[in-house]
Amino acid sequence: MKALAVFPGKPNSLHLADLDKPSVSDIPNGRGVLVRVLRVGVDGTDKEINAAEYGAAPEGYDFLVIGHEGFGQVEAVGPAVTELKPGDYVVATVRRPGSSVYDAIGTSDMTTDDVYFERGINLRHGYLTEYYVDSADFIVKIPNALRNVAVLLEPLTVVEKGITQAYEIQRRLRVWRPKRAAVMGAGTIGLLAALVLRLRGLEVTVFGLQPAPYRNSDLLEQLGARYVSTKTKWVEHGALDYGPFDIIFEATGFSPIVFDSMRALAKNGVLVLSSVTGGDRRYEIPADRINLEFVLGNKVMVGTVNANREYFERGVEDMALAEADFAGWLEQLLTHPVHGLENFCELIDTLTSAKDAIKVYCEVAPLGGDARQGVAVGSLASAATR
Ligand code: BGC
Ligand code: ZN
Repeated sequence: MKALAVFPGKPNSLHLADLDKPSVSDIPNGRGVLVRVLRVGVDGTDKEINAAEYGAAPEGYDFLVIGHEGFGQVEAVGPAVTELKPGDYVVATVRRPGSSVYDAIGTSDMTTDDVYFERGINLRHGYLTEYYVDSADFIVKIPNALRNVAVLLEPLTVVEKGITQAYEIQRRLRVWRPKRAAVMGAGTIGLLAALVLRLRGLEVTVFGLQPAPYRNSDLLEQLGARYVSTKTKWVEHGALDYGPFDIIFEATGFSPIVFDSMRALAKNGVLVLSSVTGGDRRYEIPADRINLEFVLGNKVMVGTVNANREYFERGVEDMALAEADFAGWLEQLLTHPVHGLENFCELIDTLTSAKDAIKVYCEVAPLGGDARQGVAVGSLASAATR
């Protein structure tokens, strides 16, 4: 079967690779789930992997199949899988357990191991292929009504984890009633963070580069969030007008913004950092003032990466809430579909050069009509009973 792979360490090596079709019996204890891939989103991490700045091949391979934002349909399950059945729509988590105590309790996103395993990123093949198999422990069911937007679940989980962690941390205060939130960055993660914070009932201000109006500022307006372009108003002034902020979610990929965010944070506030910044940029900061305000204001700053199963489940709930409260909003993020694995050149070109893209994704196989009555599911079910 076809797969999209890179040779880690070799820039621009994205190519079509050939893999054997996996089988449920590849997974021990009868827990295997074979998934037919339908859609896979791509993001900055894939860009970096193709640029050979990141990523490693699994042991025994010289290539890495990329794609970590998967969505598919169950084709077959092992005898010990009771929670999923053929025809179910699913999304798989990304990180797989290592050896730390956090891995042992199902929170591999909190691993303290130096070497970690991430499907499509590090030491494990990803989802940009026709089928994959994994343990049911790492596969989350998607309600039929969310199948059109479920390819957004993995990026959403990054936000879910950051915001859940923030609330968890704030239990230190005994009582915390956040009112004003800021999101730094209006890309895919920034938009999703604004959504979740609006769903939690907060007043949300999003800081982005581009002057409004443009697609992303319109989307934020639909959520009842405020958009501020840092071209017209720097974070410091935005915070004077609309802050200070009880919670700030940073997702710009531009590390200097972190220090401006520290200053825009309210007393007792929490700042969540989610940008993976590979460079070694330097920046001058008012260190004494930031430190003093943090100390006198009991402020917190926390880093967050990846997400475990719990956040995927929370993400599914928020997608359902989003469809109830802001119907059709999520689907508007799916701006750039690319049809078929064989069009991988178009996929990577769109990812690297489409200026107005929110989510670029590969349509590996068509979603089809209503899954409940679709021919595909009928034949899957009969195949499974054979
Ligand atoms: C992925 C995360 C992953 C991180 C670091 C992100 O693009 O969405 O799941 O943990 O990269 O590899
Ligand atoms: Zn990602």
